[in-house]
Amino acid sequence: GPALDARNLRFGYLGKPVVDGVSLAIGKREIVCLLGGSGSGKSTLLRGLAGLAVPEDGTVSFLGQPLLAPHPRAALVFQQPSLLPWHDVRANVGFGLDFARQPAIDRVARERRIANAIEAVGLASHARAYPAQLSGGQAQRVALARALAREPELLFADEPFSALDAITRAEMQALLVDLVHRWHTAVLLVTHDIDEAILVADRILLLAGRPGRIAREWRVDIPRPREDHGDEIVRLRL
Ligand code: ATP
Ligand code: MG
Repeated sequence: GPALDARNLRFGYLGKPVVDGVSLAIGKREIVCLLGGSGSGKSTLLRGLAGLAVPEDGTVSFLGQPLLAPHPRAALVFQQPSLLPWHDVRANVGFGLDFARQPAIDRVARERRIANAIEAVGLASHARAYPAQLSGGQAQRVALARALAREPELLFADEPFSALDAITRAEMQALLVDLVHRWHTAVLLVTHDIDEAILVADRILLLAGRPGRIAREWRVDIPRPREDHGDEIVRLRL
């Protein structure tokens, strides 16, 4: 079955619906982009799909189970990296695991996961750095590592690159695609950058209308070789 299956969702504030009648599914390892104008309800919908808000109507199921709270096999990345300034990169990435509420992992496996995730985003030499010592792009890499360390089945990302300069953004887009393929992770990426959506998505959903609904849907049929890492899947080595 799909990683995420949402049916007929309604979310709003103070009784005013922001999105209504939204149904969508995200397949395992699928990268889905949610496009829409400012205020169309993308973040509201993403938070609801991630279990951070209770729908007024409809259901969300995650890996075949009703989703009632944020799931240990999901991870989130936002526009701002939101790192803890008094903790170094390793500790910040470890923080993502502490909130995973997954079966406890032993110390050695935990350390390996953290190191692997930091290495994967290219920050091995900065593992002991503090957030204030990082550039914006590096800080966002830490946020990505913090998410990946959870070994998520599904990564929710809300405009994760929109605060970055064009070159760093392009680097991060390529990194995201590479990482989610290696981690075998599905992604729901919220963006209002249509170029970004075309570049990374398998499928694009357009959220529009008041209240918002999925107004259009495109499959991106640009042939892009997907690297098959086979046995080298990072998470199986953890
Ligand atoms: P952007 O592209 O600017 O991030 P968005 O598509 O993510 O926009 P949302 O943040 O989901 O849009 O907001 C959708 C609507 O809901 C807006 O009209 C916004 O003002 C309203 N809204 C968002 N959060 C709240 C809140 N916590 N309380 C009340 N209204 C809210
Ligand atoms: Mg938003």
